[in-house]
Amino acid sequence: MSADVVVVGAGPAGSVAAAMLARAGLSVDVLERTHFPRFSIGESLLPQAMEWLDEAGLLQDVVEAGFQHKNGAIFRWGEKEESFDFRVKSTAGWGTTYQVQREKFDQILARGAERLGARFHFGQTVVAMRPDSAAPSLTVRDEEGVEREVTARFVLDASGFGRVLARLLDLETPTAFPDRMSIFTHVHDHIPHGLHDRNKIIITINPNNSEIWYWFIPLADGLTSIGVVGRPEHLAIYGENRDEQLRALVAESGLMNRLLVNATSARAVGEISGYACKVTSLTGNGYALLGNAGEFLDPVFSSGVTIALKSASLASKLVVRQLNGENPDWDAEFSRPLGRGIETFRAYVNGWYDGSLQKVIFNTPVDPNQIKAMITSVLAGYAWDNENPFVRQPTKYLNMIAELGG
Ligand code: FAD
Repeated sequence: MSADVVVVGAGPAGSVAAAMLARAGLSVDVLERTHFPRFSIGESLLPQAMEWLDEAGLLQDVVEAGFQHKNGAIFRWGEKEESFDFRVKSTAGWGTTYQVQREKFDQILARGAERLGARFHFGQTVVAMRPDSAAPSLTVRDEEGVEREVTARFVLDASGFGRVLARLLDLETPTAFPDRMSIFTHVHDHIPHGLHDRNKIIITINPNNSEIWYWFIPLADGLTSIGVVGRPEHLAIYGENRDEQLRALVAESGLMNRLLVNATSARAVGEISGYACKVTSLTGNGYALLGNAGEFLDPVFSSGVTIALKSASLASKLVVRQLNGENPDWDAEFSRPLGRGIETFRAYVNGWYDGSLQKVIFNTPVDPNQIKAMITSVLAGYAWDNENPFVRQPTKYLNMIAELGG
């Protein structure tokens, strides 16, 4: 096996990058450790992501898949509620998107990228990497334990929480976020008629501990994804095991508990911890890191897939140029522009946990319409729109509004 580009991992970042590169005429091999369909967390997309699905030639595949529409988010704290409609935002572009079962979504993207010419190889785990500016190579292990060498002209690491190159090349660096974890499941929701608009996700703050929050993401086929996020020691006091903890926490959640009154279990309770991650550098000799393989902040604003697709879009263009003989500046044209949006989301995540953003959301600011449209743009994923002051200087503007509203 030898291709222009080898992509490690067939999540959204990997498949979208593979599709973009194949469309540009490069040969692409995608190496994926698992077999699809496989479960993944990360089900609520942001409208901004639609632009990059379109750019990759995959939008129609997604639109035709019958996923649950999404047009906004509702934030709740006790009986306080604030609804954000993503179609009422200051940045031009998509105002709707989907809430997706990732096993289906990721398979659709992979099949679409295959249709566009990328080759996918499942059950293949990357276990070693030798960076090289002209011919980086990887060691790949199949399910029988047989190893082989793969050489490419460029390697994109889209291995998500597998963090393949971060671990193999010792690129990991601590994040400033404390350790948080999530407990989650899917239910057959049987939501009482008229009680909730399925086109919106709900983010609820726990009434007794504002650092604990829940997601409620209605999916297609009568399913809803529910989850709770908090510090491990804060969740542990709710029961002996994860099932008990999730049940006890949902019982405290107010509206969400009422929506789930008739719900029945659709999958075993799962958990994920230690997900916040970061690297010292997103690029090196003959490689770049995409999506979660590079950095993951926090699930609260559903930004993970959007950042993953932005990284795929930026990197694919540079790979094409580099393999055509140009010498692109990866720092100036990839790491820094990608980082601008990540920094916007970081400011929002920090504001969420230090309480300033919660003040902004739940206390009416001075000029609600204009300000809300700008904040909605960021919540809809338009974190790279420099026209928006809440993108250019997110912390300053959020703090200013928090003071006015608080
Ligand atoms: P992934 O989707 O993780 O894909 C990586 C792929 O690489 C996997 O298929 C894996 O099997 C493969 N792989 C790993 N190691 C190897 C190896 N050695 N060799 C070959 N293949 C390998 N994001 C959202 O946008 N919306 C949400 O609502 C949301 N909710 C979240 C909730 C929680 C609790 C958490 C922790 C995250 C959430 N996220 C959400 C983030 C989202 O899950 C990720 O950001 C997104 O899946 C990243 O995509 P990716 O393509 O970078 O990686």
